[in-house]
Amino acid sequence: MKYVSTRGGGETYSASETIVKGIASDGGLFVPSSFPTIDGQFVDMLAELSYPERVAKILALYMDEFDENELLGYAQKAYSRFDGDPCPVVKIEDNLFVMELWHGPTFAFKDMALTLLPHLMVASKKKLGIDEKTLVLVATSGDTGKAALEGFKDVDGSEILVFFPDKGVSKMQKLQMVTQEGGNLSVVGIKGNFDDAQRAVKEIFCDNEVISTLKESKRAMSSANSINWGRLAPQIAYYVSSYVDLVASGEIEYGDKINFVVPTGNFGNVLAGYYAYKMGLPVNKLIVASNANNVLVDFFASGVYSVKRDFYKTASPSMDILVSSNLERLLYELCGRDSALITRLYNDLKEKGEFSFDKDLLDNSIFEAGWADETETKEAIFNYFDLDDVTFDPHTAVAGSVYNDYSIDTDDDTTTIIVSTASPYKFATDVLEGLTGKREKDPLKAMLKLQFESGLDCPGEIYYLSEKKVLHTKVIEKSEAKQAVLDFAQSGNTRG
Ligand SMILES: *Cc1c(COP(=O)(O)O)cnc(C)c1O
Repeated sequence: MKYVSTRGGGETYSASETIVKGIASDGGLFVPSSFPTIDGQFVDMLAELSYPERVAKILALYMDEFDENELLGYAQKAYSRFDGDPCPVVKIEDNLFVMELWHGPTFAFKDMALTLLPHLMVASKKKLGIDEKTLVLVATSGDTGKAALEGFKDVDGSEILVFFPDKGVSKMQKLQMVTQEGGNLSVVGIKGNFDDAQRAVKEIFCDNEVISTLKESKRAMSSANSINWGRLAPQIAYYVSSYVDLVASGEIEYGDKINFVVPTGNFGNVLAGYYAYKMGLPVNKLIVASNANNVLVDFFASGVYSVKRDFYKTASPSMDILVSSNLERLLYELCGRDSALITRLYNDLKEKGEFSFDKDLLDNSIFEAGWADETETKEAIFNYFDLDDVTFDPHTAVAGSVYNDYSIDTDDDTTTIIVSTASPYKFATDVLEGLTGKREKDPLKAMLKLQFESGLDCPGEIYYLSEKKVLHTKVIEKSEAKQAVLDFAQSGNTRG
């Protein structure tokens, strides 16, 4: 399997090259040159396998320079860090299921890929004969940062530097990051929002001064954001795996199409679902759920993607994003892989803050999109608990609310999976407010009360966070991000 850039000419890359590079040098994203296919036999075969074995089978279709056993070894190591089944599919109503992707070490779905990516990165470098150190740069809207830090902490030959919007993440998300221990990492707050952090990081990737300075100290940059193929590929596996589980339990028959509802920010999660569909997984609709930052909803309705709009801080901070990077990969497929068109669109976005895409192509796709405001999100937390006895974090509640609207508008009763992306305890104050209507500002009290209300155990790692020592206190202007990378490369840390 070879890979190409969404903005590139004819050049092709191996899977390991895409993982090591992260982003193509023309600014485009790496995509597989074609999609491997899966069928009923493949689904039956997966039914007998554990989750890591399923992941290895699916990755092997995309990464043929890796031996399947080698991939299995990495997947077993990665998913042994989860508490039980990494991807339980829970029935909450007839034809309605929740896929819980937050049983990993940092309690958000980012762990599904970020526990595995470091293994793929180290192995890819070995295959390519690269002995430079890898400096992993991360821009996070809250959950990627912690998951990437945990993944790359003390990994040989790797360093990791995380930029987060200082005022744009939840208390718990921030505490998780600024208390991170490890000798090869640093965490820096940026005065700005996620888009500012993401833009700064993307620019640094293409900055010749940074590239050559790093080269002098035998380092090269890579990305742990969902622009990295090594992040997306493992995410395809859980779409397939949840389908396999529904077939195996007799809830559906092979060939029945199902819907997925996906709380969406950078479009990585839902794009993995689209890739599963492109492989032949029977999917009816992929329903994109946004919060008040509903740029994608407007885009699917009009064909115009415009970031000239207000940015809102919401109770679902990991979706507070205006520039959804992975949309580029979807548009590349929908327009028939016209890289000249994609280059033009993304130049327009950079220069004019917007672009227009053929609306017919969007209408004919399997995508639907909807959004929930803050009140609707809280209502969804209450209603799903009340009716279905399930406790949603605010991101998942956005998806729940959008699904409600969708099913009322369309009468579609297709079997549906709501993708649940974080533990409610990462956002205890807001979840508790949704459940009880009362706001408990003290996060520890909120967790105890949430435990009482929901009956779900609070993970000790979250409860005892506030007792951990804060190790990272540096906050910079977004214009100083490049210097922070250069400083990090000199000293190995940026602690201030
Ligand atoms: C990252 C994240 C999302 C958004 O996922 P994308 O892949 O960026 O679309 C949704 N919910 C939670 C809890 C997240 O951490």
